[in-house]
Amino acid sequence: MKLDKRACRKVAAKPLSLPAGHGLLGAEQIDHLIKAEVHNLGHTRTLILYLYPRQQCAQGNRLPRWTVFITRREFITLRRDEGGKTAWLLSMLDRLDCSYRFLSRCAFCTRRDEQIVLRFVGEKDSSVPALNALYRFQRRLWEKRTHQQRVLRDQPIVQRMRAVRALPRGLPAWVRQSVMPAYLFYDRTGRKKVQAYCTSCQKEVWLINPKNRRTTICPHCGRKAVQKTRASRARWHEDKETVQLIQCVSRTELIIRILKVRYWYAGTDVAHQHLYETARYFVGQQADGTPRTEVYHYAEWHDGATHWQPGEYPRPAFWNSGFDAEDVGAVYLPNLKTALLGTPWQYCPIGQFYRQINEPIQASTFLAACLEHPVIEHLVKVGFTKLAASVAYDRDGSQCLDESQHRTHRILQVEKDDLPLLKTLQVDARWLHCYQSYLGKKLRGRQQLLAWQVELDVRDVPEEILDWVRVPRFLEYIQAQAKFSADENHTTAGLVTLYRDYLSMCREAGHDLKKRSVLFPENCRAAHDEVQQHCRWLHTQKMRENFTQAYLAVNKKICYRHKGLQIICPSTPEDLVQEGKNLHHCVGSYAERVAKGQCLILFLRHTDEPEKPFYTIEVRGDQIQQVHGDHNSNPTLEVEQFVAQWKKRVLTPLFKAA
Ligand SMILES: [Zn+2]
Repeated sequence: MKLDKRACRKVAAKPLSLPAGHGLLGAEQIDHLIKAEVHNLGHTRTLILYLYPRQQCAQGNRLPRWTVFITRREFITLRRDEGGKTAWLLSMLDRLDCSYRFLSRCAFCTRRDEQIVLRFVGEKDSSVPALNALYRFQRRLWEKRTHQQRVLRDQPIVQRMRAVRALPRGLPAWVRQSVMPAYLFYDRTGRKKVQAYCTSCQKEVWLINPKNRRTTICPHCGRKAVQKTRASRARWHEDKETVQLIQCVSRTELIIRILKVRYWYAGTDVAHQHLYETARYFVGQQADGTPRTEVYHYAEWHDGATHWQPGEYPRPAFWNSGFDAEDVGAVYLPNLKTALLGTPWQYCPIGQFYRQINEPIQASTFLAACLEHPVIEHLVKVGFTKLAASVAYDRDGSQCLDESQHRTHRILQVEKDDLPLLKTLQVDARWLHCYQSYLGKKLRGRQQLLAWQVELDVRDVPEEILDWVRVPRFLEYIQAQAKFSADENHTTAGLVTLYRDYLSMCREAGHDLKKRSVLFPENCRAAHDEVQQHCRWLHTQKMRENFTQAYLAVNKKICYRHKGLQIICPSTPEDLVQEGKNLHHCVGSYAERVAKGQCLILFLRHTDEPEKPFYTIEVRGDQIQQVHGDHNSNPTLEVEQFVAQWKKRVLTPLFKAA
């Protein structure tokens, strides 16, 4: 029975009936006074609490601020603000006001009020504070209410999960035989032939000359298994794996169920097993053909109609292994064909892809990608598995392909006779892109180069090298260089970069790259360091030249003499360094800026002491930026006047003329 709000309103505005001088009205430690009554409102026994603000009542306004209505099933509160406006609230008693410890500053007007409350909530022990008993009572109702809300909210998910079928009966056995690591447990007897137990096929088998931790093939089931003596087995050994089960939900939708399997051996040959589900990915095809993925995760603590909640399984913090959140794993193969039959994935080669790539995969992404890139199907079927993986899992994986084509070499945009090599190397999108650029340049020896790169994992061969050097000679040279760098822990890729840097510096330094001795120095590292030094020297040389040039442009005209002071130009960068040292400021670091033409540094000196640093001036265009003396001191009046005059008479006219 719902609370009748109209009936509630009728009794809500009951003024406080305490005489004006009553002691409670003056009790400073109380914020609110409570009166309790029980009425029959709309045929429901209802507890009514009136909460009066004490201060306001003392001042004459006797109306309650909150009136709380509580029945056995629900509760509701009517709030009345100072202006007399009212509103219905669903919050609990302790949340009505946001003040700190609100309830502890409330008090019942009389002991009778308290007893009414205790009786209503069914509290037999009359020594229990009535507000505590009421809080517990209300809390139960609140929990029931939120639970009902959750159940209601979960209904669409319950509907969605109804289409999910039962787990295949053969799944646990399949997981044991094909996914979980297999062991052959045996006792060391000293004999040549011992009996062992295979955890995969669960049969007793005979082993000849077993060795602890050696991997062999089980003579019965033929699976790879690790031989392990029972004595060396840990007290507790656990294996855990992820299995993805793909099932059909409707004609346009699949579900990928993430199953977690834990096997633990606690001193026994047979594992204790635990199989549980953590996530469900619904992958569907929309009307326009694009995929749509919807994820649910198993929320163990969720208290509603279902434990399945929208969103991915919460990713754990860094100290947690995150096993339960992982959605990469083995794919259950036996049901695959029937699951995909009649869906848009009927010809999807996910099983073939999984077998070829031979490692855990993320099925949901692959299935969604198959709808977007039909080329994946083609690539897997002709054996370009890694390339298919690039397209499915990398965002830019399909950029190097022409997906509108139907023949493999046209899709890959290479020549027909490149295909066998590319397939043997199992190129991914990056390698293919690399090869395509060689092809575009009609580089000779490109197949040899790519094979070498893939083998040694040299991702980048800077293209400018190949402008200078032919491929076979380049490979020969780099291989020969490996002997110099063997002790320096250089990878081949590092060597290639070193050589590239060497060549580009040679060009900068103006060396003749046509010369064999320049192009192929005997020790690349040594030659690299040498030319690097040379380049640095050249660089400073150039800086000095520019520095001098900057002053040559203004020299003589910018210098000035007047009343015992003069302005002169430095002639080398070292002059600046010296000036900075003598005057204890940072002008020494300005040489680079002067060389780049960003500013000019000038010296102000006494005419009778032209060698002695006095003040330093920075000029940008015709503007004076700074004038600083010793320890960055500001100019004296005399200096200031002199500089102002210099600016007026020399600097401004000079730049006007320019
Ligand atoms: Zn076996």
